[in-house]
Amino acid sequence: MPIFEYVCHDCHHGFETLVRSGSVPECPQCHSTQLEKQLSVFATAAAAPEAVPAMAGPCGSCGHPDGPGSCALH
Ligand SMILES: [Zn+2]
Repeated sequence: MPIFEYVCHDCHHGFETLVRSGSVPECPQCHSTQLEKQLSVFATAAAAPEAVPAMAGPCGSCGHPDGPGSCALH
């Protein structure tokens, strides 16, 4: 089950919560449903691999050992 990070628009409380499909998450502090969804750690890594130095290989994009341009995708 996915865990999402939210920041409450009303009280600016930040929290993580499990979100079941069909249910609306609410702020645990003021019970508002006016929430702003934050990017999860996984979503951020997938969208911007170059922002994660530990995962960057010679290719710069996919980590192909032969260097930039060697792999089929890049
Ligand atoms: Zn709140």
